[in-house]
Amino acid sequence: PYSGLSADEILQKRKTFLGPSLFYYYQKPINIVEGKMQYLFDENGKRYLDAFAGIVTVSCGHCHPDVVNAVVEQTKLLQHTTTIYLHHAIVEFAEALASKMPGNLKVVYFVNSGTEANELAMLMARLYSGNLGMIALRNAYHGGSAGTIGLTALNTWKYQIPQGEIHHVINPDPYRGVFGSNADAYVRELKDHIDYGTPGKVAGFIAETFQGVGGAVELAPGYLKSVYDVIHQAGGVCIADEVQSGFGRTGSHYWGFETQGVIPDIVTMAKGIGNGLPLGAVVTTPEIAQVMSQKIQFNTFGGNPVCSSGGLAVLRVLDKERRQSHCADVGSHLIERLRTLQQRYDLIGDVRGRGLMLGIELVTDKKEKTPAKLETAVLFEKLKDLGVLVGKGGLHGNVFRIKPPMCFTKDDADFLVDALDYAIWGI
Ligand code: PMP
Repeated sequence: PYSGLSADEILQKRKTFLGPSLFYYYQKPINIVEGKMQYLFDENGKRYLDAFAGIVTVSCGHCHPDVVNAVVEQTKLLQHTTTIYLHHAIVEFAEALASKMPGNLKVVYFVNSGTEANELAMLMARLYSGNLGMIALRNAYHGGSAGTIGLTALNTWKYQIPQGEIHHVINPDPYRGVFGSNADAYVRELKDHIDYGTPGKVAGFIAETFQGVGGAVELAPGYLKSVYDVIHQAGGVCIADEVQSGFGRTGSHYWGFETQGVIPDIVTMAKGIGNGLPLGAVVTTPEIAQVMSQKIQFNTFGGNPVCSSGGLAVLRVLDKERRQSHCADVGSHLIERLRTLQQRYDLIGDVRGRGLMLGIELVTDKKEKTPAKLETAVLFEKLKDLGVLVGKGGLHGNVFRIKPPMCFTKDDADFLVDALDYAIWGI
């Protein structure tokens, strides 16, 4: 039994010793003390089905034994030196990661988070292109550092600091976007933006293929292919932010960008790559990497032995346990059941996504698509009481995000849908 601080005590200490900007889920936040694969346990031993994976981070499962073992064994032997000395783990991990990439994406940089990965990618884009302007999408989340806060385009996350030379173009959101699923219209708009709103040249373009924080939005089909052409013509490079959508989660493909049939110039990753370890990566081509050799590019913990050993174990587990096809199987079952539920409740405006990367958007009026903010908040609490943890997203906070550890089963999916059915029926 757990004998540590209670939820109330932790909350009190958080308020005193941690920054006031921290937010928490649930009116009475839960104190999670243990995790096992797709389940979490609170201080009273109550079990929760985790359908949000620590914000899409726990890929293999909480405390997956292979990952734990790799981390523990490496920790006992050698925790850290940095890349000024040689170590086998970083090169083995880099080689394994590069083998998962298409095209000429073969050079890996390790960092500690998604924010750092996107900072580095933006730096590379600017150095390689010789241009400054970055194009990002409205509704995107790419980080909260001084640089990436400029790329992020959700007002809830943006502070008033200089945002750099960054342009946000209309989000190709098939459900809410002004042009619906018409990718060409969004691309024309982007091209206009470059022609009229920039010197005509840009450093690069960055997008999540499945916007996460923005509310599980899959970009209109065909969008990236045309955009990449426009960006290349304007002298820029194309960056895919795979922080949430990579590693087979979408089921149909290993990387989110592959669902749009493109090969980016730079790919950034974090979250699921480490199953909970602080780990991020940038992968690019040898040609682009060359510009980073003009000066030193160094990161103390990037590729450290413990994180590299853990990261390598993650890649192996995902392959060994065939998680990509599992995500496809379980995801299609889950989406089918959610669509059936959608037919019964007007509250469910949209069910979208692929694999185990799903979103449920709640609206009070299906035609007007009025965000059902209050209902979402109530259901969110009810689901938690029923033992199901989901994520919340979108600018209006009216989207449930379902992105569980990838070991989530069909039974878990059924439990989630039944709990949601019961909760909606009761309001
Ligand atoms: N990109 C995306 C798509 C993300 O979802 C996030 C985190 N929510 C980040 C970048 C930033 O990652 P981190 O919090 O590890 O810095």
